[in-house]
Amino acid sequence: MNNINRCVNTISKLSSNKVAIITGSSKGIGKSIALRFARSKEYSALVINARRLKEAEQVVEETKKSAECDSVAIVGDVSKESDCIRLIEETVTKFQRIDVLVNNAGIQKDNPLTETTLQDWYNIISVDLTGPFVCSRESVKQMKTQTDPVGGCIINISSVHQIIPKPHYVPYATSKGGIDMMTKTMALELAADKIRVNIVAPGAIDTDMNMSLRTGALELEENLKKIPIGRIGKAQEIADVVDFLTSSKASYITGSTFVVDGGMTLYPSFGLDHSHSSDHLFPKDSSR
Ligand code: NAD
Repeated sequence: MNNINRCVNTISKLSSNKVAIITGSSKGIGKSIALRFARSKEYSALVINARRLKEAEQVVEETKKSAECDSVAIVGDVSKESDCIRLIEETVTKFQRIDVLVNNAGIQKDNPLTETTLQDWYNIISVDLTGPFVCSRESVKQMKTQTDPVGGCIINISSVHQIIPKPHYVPYATSKGGIDMMTKTMALELAADKIRVNIVAPGAIDTDMNMSLRTGALELEENLKKIPIGRIGKAQEIADVVDFLTSSKASYITGSTFVVDGGMTLYPSFGLDHSHSSDHLFPKDSSR
């Protein structure tokens, strides 16, 4: 079968022909989103973005195993405006449209405030907040011109730390808090253009970003106390919600945050503690 026939054949199997860009999709949550999109058969093309080509190309190969959509790897550092602009331009040149942008790339660093340098601040803000701003701005220029279907959809991967303050993570929590207002403001500005903008805010998810939970039993135990559902989340559980929000089932949802955290934002310390009876609060007099 020649390439053109193969492509026509593939596209005929798709339920729709959407084009999606997922930033930072060489591993972790971004990779899971890419694989979930591929399995959905809604996408004719996926753009896998990462800073290193080889890692991005590996994910391209994996998406092609799920569905023969026209995935490509586009290298780019989202902390750089010029890279973000090129990422969007190359996508449009290759596929003529952008239906979905997932701003997923993110970094964090554990540092007390007094040891956080201005460079640390800029490094984190530029990946976690400025990158989503520039990628969204550039994608929206394209989305506003689109017909059949009109508009598009942006998902920002934030964090429970857009709600819960996190000591030692001032630039990270500030970025994610900024994502909250950026999303709502864009959603309001772009609703008339049929561009929906939403947030998925994960709790503790098993990825490289949380390596310490894999290796440190004590840290895992401490974290589990904060999660009513009693376990760390899986990247696929974030990808499933992103998949829903980008689908037509979510056509009336914009400017919203979907927290996917096993209940972490329910303030578990106020919950029932089944491991204790009230006896220990009023010790019995052992002499009696
Ligand atoms: P991860 O470290 O496993 O993956 C991060 C991805 O972003 C990687 O592919 C990395 O290469 C990419 N990346 C980093 N800097 C980049 C840059 N400058 N340009 C392009 N790509 C870049 O992390 P993850 O857990 O998959 O995190 C994904 C998103 O989810 C992040 O925005 C993170 O803040 C958020 N999040 C994760 C958790 C969690 O528990 N894992 C919790 C809350 C929020």
